[in-house]
Amino acid sequence: MVTLKSAREIETMRRSGRITATVLSELMKAARPGITTGDLDRLAEDGIRERGGVPTFKGYHGFTASICASVNDEVVHGIPGGRVLREGDLLSIDIGTTLDGYVSDSAVTVPIGTISPEARKLMDVTQECLMAGIAQMRKGNHVGDIGAAVQRHAEAHGYGVVRELVGHGVGREMHEEPHVPNFGQAGTGMEMRPGLVLAIEPMITQGDRRVEILKDGWTVVTADGKLAAHFEHTIAVTEDGPRILTLRDFGEHPDAEQYRPAQAATV
Ligand code: MG
Ligand code: MG
Repeated sequence: MVTLKSAREIETMRRSGRITATVLSELMKAARPGITTGDLDRLAEDGIRERGGVPTFKGYHGFTASICASVNDEVVHGIPGGRVLREGDLLSIDIGTTLDGYVSDSAVTVPIGTISPEARKLMDVTQECLMAGIAQMRKGNHVGDIGAAVQRHAEAHGYGVVRELVGHGVGREMHEEPHVPNFGQAGTGMEMRPGLVLAIEPMITQGDRRVEILKDGWTVVTADGKLAAHFEHTIAVTEDGPRILTLRDFGEHPDAEQYRPAQAATV
């Protein structure tokens, strides 16, 4: 069942999203050669808790950390630990905050030091895919319009779109209905209405779209060992169009600012 959120609930999710965005900005700045993914995880947990939130991922289906940290050919769900980030790595960070019972979910891919032009392009196109998906989140459009827009942009650049993992509704639970695939047909799926809140999260591969799961039971990697990138926001459909509840002040796409939510607009 899809639950639409009230203005009050969306305002709580915006405050949750503000913590997620702020802490993710801090992690993006800290993600440099020499730091470990475990160091970033500790920064994340401290940053969320000192702002009054709870790290949503910690304990989720037994996940032991507050972020997912996925490097190079790792697509998503990498477990933070002793891995030292090196110049040229491509790091995807996924983070969630629960505040007053409401979840916000966001992810970015960041360069570690100087990365190859090919890695940079994959990163940029994946962020553009997210923006293309968000632009479809308007009253009267369909959920299938999101995936169609993401897929069109990724495949125009010759990239793969991961099928096995999808975006989702978000609210009291991190994963709610509906599923939001990053591929599909425009005009299909449920019609979007104000109050619908979705996490859109394109997972885009440099080569073939097929993925595998490592023996740790979590880490999703590309089957061909090529790079992957992942960007995610939590977004509300409003009467005035999409509002990004996890919008950052740092490292954001220029098109994103038009979707900045008003503070306590209609509570
Ligand atoms: Mg996420
Ligand atoms: Mg998500």
